[in-house]
Amino acid sequence: MLKICVDVDKCAGLGMCESWAPDRFEVQSDAKVHVLAENIDESQRDAVQGAIDNCPTGALSIE
Ligand code: SF4
Repeated sequence: MLKICVDVDKCAGLGMCESWAPDRFEVQSDAKVHVLAENIDESQRDAVQGAIDNCPTGALSIE
């Protein structure tokens, strides 16, 4: 099982990740992204990888 990791110190709250995987990422009132469900399987990997690749601050990763 893969797990989404967020470095909240790097997150600038820009919301690119929300556009790629809205069922996984949500920028909340604290202007930081929150992971709605951190465990992903291979079928969800492409959308999450798109979010990771397009995060301008490099705050996201998969482990
Ligand atoms: S794309 Fe990156 S900087 Fe923007 S909200 Fe998502 S994790 Fe934060």
